[in-house]
Amino acid sequence: MTEAPADRGRPIPGIEAWERPVVVLNPVPGAPTAADSHLGGPLLWPADEPWPWCESGHSGYVQVQDCENDRVPHFAAAQFYRRDFPELPFPDGTDLLQVLFCPLYHRANGGPGVRLHWRASGSVGAVLTDVPAPALREPEFFPRPMVFEPERTTEYPAPDELPEEMVATFSFLQDPDDHDDHDEWPDLARGSKIGGWTAWYHTERPEGRCSECGAPVPQGLALSSSERKPGEKAGWLFGDHGSLNVFLCSNDPRHPFTVEVD
Ligand SMILES: [Zn+2]
Ligand SMILES: [Zn+2]
Ligand SMILES: [Zn+2]
Repeated sequence: MTEAPADRGRPIPGIEAWERPVVVLNPVPGAPTAADSHLGGPLLWPADEPWPWCESGHSGYVQVQDCENDRVPHFAAAQFYRRDFPELPFPDGTDLLQVLFCPLYHRANGGPGVRLHWRASGSVGAVLTDVPAPALREPEFFPRPMVFEPERTTEYPAPDELPEEMVATFSFLQDPDDHDDHDEWPDLARGSKIGGWTAWYHTERPEGRCSECGAPVPQGLALSSSERKPGEKAGWLFGDHGSLNVFLCSNDPRHPFTVEVD
């Protein structure tokens, strides 16, 4: 567990309420199958269910130009079984989260288009093997196959995400020339992770509310360009060597989710 942040050695009243569990995924190269949790491996996708294609929302980026009207198949970015990651908010009756990317740039996300499927793995019979390969693609969105060496801990948000009344009491923030104490604030996991807080890098955005039910939409899943040991880079690149953060409705993760690349 991460030690609670302190203000020049003094405890911060109420800070405990801001501690969140986090699973640091630590991806490592592997040869996952559809029966495994992974990045970039085969999905447990029913042979009799149409593979999802992306028809809109993408635009030209680095490798591909003039693709607004092209229809492209999604590709497997990740899947997570509940037996491995019970921390994900699986809806009742589901035990598998599948993450698919559009291989083209979606300006609204600042990265690839993202699609989530919450599935009951037990109801999948024959598995689709003939997965369509995208003819148009941004190569930097593709990971190599990775499995996980997860590490479970907790983390606190950066001061910018705490209430102003609390931050106003921090003596180390009163002295703009004193950066040493700021450096003692516990760092967030900047690699791929489940839960925890967003490791904002270029921007800071408050966690929003669900567009469908109004519930809080906390950080759910981060997929990252770089990892901390023992994790290794999956080979994909989001934004400026940042993370693709998926925010999930705390009431029902099947409600519209938001994606922020930072
Ligand atoms: Zn797309
Ligand atoms: Zn909702
Ligand atoms: Zn930068």
